[in-house]
Amino acid sequence: MPVRSLITGGAGFIGSHLAEALLKRGEEVYALDNLSTGSMANIDALKSRPGFHYVLDSVRNAYVVAEMVDRCDVVYHLAAAVGVKLIVEDPVNTIETNVHGTETVLHHASKKGKKVLIASTSEVYGKSEQFPFREDQDVLLGPSSKSRWSYACSKLVDEFLALAYLRQKKLPVVIVRLFNTVGPRQTGRYGMVIPTFVRQALRNEPITVYGDGRQSRSFTYVGDVVWALTRLAHTPEAVGQIFNVGSGQEITMNELAALIKKMTGSSSPIVHVPYAEAYEQGFEDTGRRVPDISRLAATIGYRPTLDLEGILKKVIDHTAAELSESVRAVSAAAV
Ligand code: UDP
Repeated sequence: MPVRSLITGGAGFIGSHLAEALLKRGEEVYALDNLSTGSMANIDALKSRPGFHYVLDSVRNAYVVAEMVDRCDVVYHLAAAVGVKLIVEDPVNTIETNVHGTETVLHHASKKGKKVLIASTSEVYGKSEQFPFREDQDVLLGPSSKSRWSYACSKLVDEFLALAYLRQKKLPVVIVRLFNTVGPRQTGRYGMVIPTFVRQALRNEPITVYGDGRQSRSFTYVGDVVWALTRLAHTPEAVGQIFNVGSGQEITMNELAALIKKMTGSSSPIVHVPYAEAYEQGFEDTGRRVPDISRLAATIGYRPTLDLEGILKKVIDHTAAELSESVRAVSAAAV
C-alpha cells in the first residue's frame, strides 16, 4: 500500500513541487488548496497523474480537513498566508489563516494520530542579530503596531501549538523554518524578490531594490526544501524538533540585482525604492538572515545541491519561456 500524503497548500509554489516529488516516489497525494496564492497552473501537469487528488477548499474548513486527514498517513501543512506585501495589505487574513488553519489541522491530525510536518519560517528570528540563526536561540520581533511582524508571530503560535500537541497529546510533529525558498514557478505577485527582479530584468524594466539594498538573504532552492521535507517526514528522530531549512550562501539585494542583470544580459536600470513606498510608512525590514543548518545536516545528511547562480539560471530559463509563451499567445489572439 503506497504512503498517502496530504499537502495543505498543495497548489502553491512549494506544495506543487512537493506533490510532484511524492508522486515520483510512488506515493498517493491529496492536495488541499483554496487558490488564494496557489494556482491551478501549478498543478496542471499533475492532474492527470495516477495517485494525484485535489480539493479546492480552505484549510479552515474543518469538515474537509477532517475527511482528508482521515484518508492520509502524513500531513504536510504548508497552507498559509505568505508574502510580505500580502501580509502588510491583509493582516486579518494572515493572522486568521495561519493560526486557525494550523489549529484545525493539528486538532484533526491528533484525533487520528497522523504525523504532521508544519512549515514555519525564518521570519520568526525577526530582528535578532545572533548570526547564523540557530533553532534554539531567542527571537526578537518588532512591535504589534507594525503589521509585518504579525506573520512571524502567527507562525510562532503555530510552532507553540504543534509542540503543545506533541507534549500533551503525543502527536508526532516536525517543524521546519524555511529560509526564502525560491525556484521555477514562484510568482512575484506577492512581493517575492527573485521572481520580481528576474521578470523586470527580462523585460528591461527598472529593477526595484527596496531600501538601501544592503539587507541580505540566504535563498534556498525549492528542490532542496522538498527533499528535506520528505526526509524529515520519515525520520523518527526528527519528531518534536525544529529545523532550519536553508543555505549558508548570503547575498545583499544590491548584489542580487546586479547578478540578475548580468546573467540576463539586461539593460534594466537598478533603482532604489523607499520602504514607505514599497510597503507602508514605518516598514521595518529584516537586515540580515542566515541559517545555521547543522541540525538538519546531522539529522538527514542535508546539503544544498544548487548554489545561487544555479538556482537563478533555472528561474531565468523558466521565466523567459513563460514570457515568450505569453507574447506568442497575445500575438496569436491579435491575428
Ligand atoms: N525586495 C526588493 N525589491 C522587490 C521585492 C523585495 O528589494 O521588488 C527586498 C525586500 O525588501 C527584502 C528582500 O528583497 O529585503 C526579500 O524580500 P521577499 O519578499 O522576497 O522575502 P522576505 O525575506 O522579505 O520574506
